[in-house]
Amino acid sequence: MLILLKPGATEVTASDVMTHLRMAGLAVHRTDHDGRARIAAVGDLSAVTFDDVASWPGVESAQKLPRPFKLASRAFHPHDTIISVGRAMVGAQAITIMAGPCSVEGEEQAFTIAAAVAKAGATVMRGGAYKPRTSPYAFQGLGEEGLKILRRAADANGLAVISEVMDTQQVGLLSRYADILQIGARNMQNYSLLHEVGLTRKPVMLKRGLSSTIEEWLMSAEHIMAQGNQQVMLCERGIRTFETYTRNTLDLNAVPVVKELSHLPVIVDPSHGVGIRDKVAPMARAAIAAGADGLIIEVHHDPDHALSDGAQSLYPHQFDELVAQIRTIAEVVGRCV
Ligand code: PEP
Ligand code: MN
Repeated sequence: MLILLKPGATEVTASDVMTHLRMAGLAVHRTDHDGRARIAAVGDLSAVTFDDVASWPGVESAQKLPRPFKLASRAFHPHDTIISVGRAMVGAQAITIMAGPCSVEGEEQAFTIAAAVAKAGATVMRGGAYKPRTSPYAFQGLGEEGLKILRRAADANGLAVISEVMDTQQVGLLSRYADILQIGARNMQNYSLLHEVGLTRKPVMLKRGLSSTIEEWLMSAEHIMAQGNQQVMLCERGIRTFETYTRNTLDLNAVPVVKELSHLPVIVDPSHGVGIRDKVAPMARAAIAAGADGLIIEVHHDPDHALSDGAQSLYPHQFDELVAQIRTIAEVVGRCV
């Protein structure tokens, strides 16, 4: 239920309304827009009626939130969410560029790539230390040692850090080293993990599941937000289709669709989306033209010897060129880098 308070309703009124809703067994979230309080009451609505709530003092209207996702919806929260991470303001006018290797492989690799992506204009460094690999025999990541290296490499270059958390037990550890907790595509519907990151106050980047609909993706964001963490960004990283000439099918339709349905920032990952080095830049350009708030891109100085995803990693000079192009495209769509 979405409750709009009257303009000029006092804080005491707002707090009374919220108390009554809580007494009816509902979880209550508030946002302010155009000087007015908007309250989302979620849960089992059987103890209250819309007409009743609309008649309470200070209440202008009580209406049904039209979608199954509530806190993630623009209906509840009309203005864009902006998440501040290091020098980046994700969701603001400036496009956020995150870049780095698929996996952290060692000190020299991480420092070389961090310096290159920072110079090109990235503000967030990516790098996996716990890797979700299809094969149990493939490189699984350096674990905590990898996180330490990633943090040092990012700090040395003024970058924030994003890294994937694969299970609930890693949330504390990842929170110590990373500025953004990445939930991988394979974990988009791992509800205990969503619950756990929802209890932190760390920004979370939620990747779209391999075969998930937009609604399922937004419902997963809702799981995080329902626990109190509103700092969620969404990442389109390609979905499974019948197409085999690319690794995945980057669903750029999702960008304008999600931007209308939700206030959360949308990041696009063209690296996993297409999976082929020389197709990453065109899809990155298209993502910004489509209205994405940012990009996350795999970059490696020696991709032929990368321990994961070398075939889709850009060389630093290609990344540099791409960021220059993104600057031009951003301007056309009223953004900047
Ligand atoms: C990654 O970003 O390294 C990754 C494993 O991505 P995804 O979860 O989208 O496959
Ligand atoms: Mn990868």
